[in-house]
Amino acid sequence: MKDVIVIGGGPGGSTAATLLAQKGFSVTLLERERFPRFQIGESLLPYNNDLFERLGMSDQLAAGDFTPKYGAEFLTGDGEIGYTFHFDSNLAPRYHRSFQVERADFDHLLLKNAAAKGVEVREQCGVASIDLDDPNRAVVRCVNGEQLEARFVVDASGHGSVVGQRVGQKEDVAGLKKIAIFSHYKNVLRREGRDAGNTVIVVLRDSWFWLIPISAEVMSVGLVVDRDHVKSCGLTPEELLAKTIASTPHVARQMENAERITQIYVRKDFSFLMKRLVGTNFALVGDAAGFLDPIFSTGVFMAMKSADITANAVEARLRNGSMKMLQRYQRDMQNALGKYFRFNTGFYRPEFLEVFMQPHRDSRLIKVIVGVLAGDVFATNRDRLGLAMFFFLVKIQKWRGAIAPRIAWERLPGAASV
Ligand SMILES: Cc1cc2nc3c(=O)[nH]c(=O)nc-3n(C[C@H](O)[C@H](O)[C@H](O)COP(=O)(O)OP(=O)(O)OC[C@H]3O[C@@H](n4cnc5c(N)ncnc54)[C@H](O)[C@@H]3O)c2cc1C
Repeated sequence: MKDVIVIGGGPGGSTAATLLAQKGFSVTLLERERFPRFQIGESLLPYNNDLFERLGMSDQLAAGDFTPKYGAEFLTGDGEIGYTFHFDSNLAPRYHRSFQVERADFDHLLLKNAAAKGVEVREQCGVASIDLDDPNRAVVRCVNGEQLEARFVVDASGHGSVVGQRVGQKEDVAGLKKIAIFSHYKNVLRREGRDAGNTVIVVLRDSWFWLIPISAEVMSVGLVVDRDHVKSCGLTPEELLAKTIASTPHVARQMENAERITQIYVRKDFSFLMKRLVGTNFALVGDAAGFLDPIFSTGVFMAMKSADITANAVEARLRNGSMKMLQRYQRDMQNALGKYFRFNTGFYRPEFLEVFMQPHRDSRLIKVIVGVLAGDVFATNRDRLGLAMFFFLVKIQKWRGAIAPRIAWERLPGAASV
């Protein structure tokens, strides 16, 4: 019997498996696909850098074909109003740079690193079911009929959440019922110099574009819209993407000579939360534990950070039987998701965006926003005051419009328009 079985070889699974192997546990990782495989989620956050260091991956990332990211720019559809947040404006030097990545390559690097650190990695080995009845053991059945046992199982299987579906008490997130339509393109214009690798977010009413330069040639472009709009607009997702690019002046300019080089992907119903993340013989990490809107590019960071905290908690559970750290993990992860929840839902309200995208007048605001954009959400009390101030200003903006000029938001096209 192994000490730990990890289900899923994405960033959450690879990180949990590697850290547990580094602690001396015997670990088997079961991954349904053969890597490299496509995955969305290409913009990383600076607060991941500490973990890359501990995984022994910082040099490989810097040497790989990944784009250095020094900040993020938020713009209106015409490109007239906006702000670029730079990570060096208030963070320690080790957080000044993050990366934009082709996830197929990045995830493969993490998985190979897990194998190199002693994890038994089995690809094309999907998990069909799991038995958690014995509180000190988990029995995992694979699609190929094989049965494996371990003292503990970490579910890092992403949105499908093999264990979470059974015991996690999944909840949909009202107000975040969105659809993402995206693809990769060549010949998309980008900023010059140090800002060339920034994420660019172009905001329309109730919807937004991402433009993420994942390599020197390739730009990932995606549109996130309300699910109800897609149902009612009379356009296919492909048509909606093409029409919205054409009718959004800033995006149309950047993509004038763009050439699409992958299929168009559609993802929906990606926002959900799990109420229960841990038990005596299991823990859910990464997307398996919950995911909110992709607007702040938090997914990979949350997956890896949750795996890191979980690895320490599993160590305590397996070495001395204690559940304390697992319970603390559940609380901390849900708190961090709660902070993003406020920002994610706020992002779809005009008063929030007006303050967020015009922060010039108050340098404290810029610091708060840069902290959130960098992934500083597991901090204890340090950021509470700043966040409270930010949401207070948003309230004033809603009532009186006194904090920042109002913005006339552009709407999405429907079948009848353009
Ligand atoms: C539209 C959109 C845009 C996004 N943009 C960003 C972004 O810019 N930046 C960012 O950080 N995040 C982004 N995300 C989120 C990001 O994609 C995820 O949060 C991240 O991939 C989570 O990592 P994970 O390891 O938890 O899960 P995953 O990356 O989903 O990995 C799970 C793995 O488990 C495997 N698996 C599934 N079921 C089984 C099974 N039964 N048995 C064995 N293996 C199994 C899968 O094959 C997969 O390899 C975005 C998400 C969406 C929907």
